[in-house]
Amino acid sequence: MIEAKGLSKSYGSVHALRGLDLEVQPGGIYCLLGANGAGKTTTLNLFLGFIQPTNGAASIAGHVVHVDPVAARRQVAYIPETVMLYGMLSGVENLDYFAKLSGCTHDQAALRGFLQRAGLNPTAHDRPLKTYSKGMRQKVGVAIALARNARALLLDEPTSGLDPKASNEFSELIAGMARDGAAILMATHDLFRARETGTHIGIMRDGVLRAEFVASEIDHGTLENEYLKIMKED
Ligand code: ATP
Repeated sequence: MIEAKGLSKSYGSVHALRGLDLEVQPGGIYCLLGANGAGKTTTLNLFLGFIQPTNGAASIAGHVVHVDPVAARRQVAYIPETVMLYGMLSGVENLDYFAKLSGCTHDQAALRGFLQRAGLNPTAHDRPLKTYSKGMRQKVGVAIALARNARALLLDEPTSGLDPKASNEFSELIAGMARDGAAILMATHDLFRARETGTHIGIMRDGVLRAEFVASEIDHGTLENEYLKIMKED
């Protein structure tokens, strides 16, 4: 569902991403770890078609992003660290607007159903977004992904700045979407969440995917040691 083959991106002499091979199947949650500047956001931006690869290809549901960005984007929902929404509009109005923007029209009951599935209390549905906490905004982001019936989900540090309970709730939502068949690729700095929520974990450094693990086959201590070892290598 989400696939990179020899995916590379350079900016002049800066190799932001080098020869990335990666695959996320439906039901999979692939967590990309790496220090600042490792190439995680570059990877997501290539899958979203925001930037063009220097070499290789990123595909979503078999559509090569730089060849057919419209077909690829139709299958994808993106949740950044801070979900950009309209502060003056309510949760349900934002959801209606962004779902329609991607060609999905739902009636009020369905929209409220998506918000509820995303864990947003009905008492908040009609409040302006500017009164929402960060966790609540992330839930609207999830509701938009649900309303679009996205088969692939790209997340860039979605739990950064959330309190542990909100972060846990968000991770459970993501896990639920994967159980329903979505393929999920998530950039994160949170080793704990990566191991708890992810099915697969990749560690990047300097634009290179240096190690990959099946989350259920590695304990937290070992993952932390592997991560630190890679970060300290010359
Ligand atoms: P962070 O954890 O800080 O978000 P990251 O792993 O997402 O980091 P990227 O943003 O993908 O890292 O950056 C990878 C490398 O590419 C960095 O060296 C960065 O400076 C470089 N880079 C990214 N975008 C550009 C650009 N537009 N022009 C030049 N260099 C860039």
